[in-house]
Amino acid sequence: MGDDVASTCRHSTTRHILRESESRLMHTSWSEIDTYRQCAFKHHVRYKLEKEPKRTPRSLQIGSMWHVLMELVYDSNDLGAPVDQLKQWRSEGQDPEYVELLTWMLDGYYEKWGVGDPLWTGEVEAIELEFEVELPDIGWGPLNLKGAIDLLVWIDNRLWLVDHKTGAEKPKTQDLELADQWTLYVWAARQLGYEVFGSVHSYAKTRKLKRTMTLEERFERFPIHRTDHECEKVAREATIQAWAAKSENGAPRSPGDHCHFRCDLIDVCIADRRYDERMAHQILDTEFKTRERK
Ligand code: SF4
Repeated sequence: MGDDVASTCRHSTTRHILRESESRLMHTSWSEIDTYRQCAFKHHVRYKLEKEPKRTPRSLQIGSMWHVLMELVYDSNDLGAPVDQLKQWRSEGQDPEYVELLTWMLDGYYEKWGVGDPLWTGEVEAIELEFEVELPDIGWGPLNLKGAIDLLVWIDNRLWLVDHKTGAEKPKTQDLELADQWTLYVWAARQLGYEVFGSVHSYAKTRKLKRTMTLEERFERFPIHRTDHECEKVAREATIQAWAAKSENGAPRSPGDHCHFRCDLIDVCIADRRYDERMAHQILDTEFKTRERK
């Protein structure tokens, strides 16, 4: 891809040229691995050119505000704390549509799960637990996985890893069983010494219809036991993919249905493919910013 966006950063991260001291600093995240799985070109722009949209997409913004509310619910033991947060966002001039939607979501969440909520009555082990653990050694050097676990909570003598997720459509159980993020996070938690039994995907709907919606269609929790076998397998596969992402791979595109609902780089991608790197960079320069390193 000599004349395209991908070629501008080819020097970046081949595993063959890493010195030992540098490789010790190598890390990845589920988000990086997942982006690479979707499309190597998308990964290249997001993680090697380090570009992200100037304006956070609505779905991500709602998702991160929901996380703030959930952290307050389970950390403060005060059901009024998230309500105060909503008031604060309103007074600070946050987009009123977001605040109204989140108010509807929080009201429904309290109605659905109530004061007997097992996540609330259970003993909390950790909240917003940031972690960094070394991925399995596949012979290519040390590589750490960084992430954050929303909630670890004891319910009926079992420790569960809880992830708060928002979305327009409720996921299917089988898709969640196949989803690697939580298996990988359970694996990471076990590496840290937490005897996690499984993961709970706590879903909240973000699509508000004009008709009355039942609480059952708006919220659902999916508890899934994760075996050691699947955790090891997923961790190993994730490591292989993380190294593949970081190595020189030519950043080939993977066009498909997912482009329309999961990619914010369509214009850049088309400009780079149809014309040249200059056109792609014009779009990147005006609509994207350099991603802050965490
Ligand atoms: S639009 Fe599709 S092919 Fe292009 S970068 Fe995005 S995911 Fe890849």
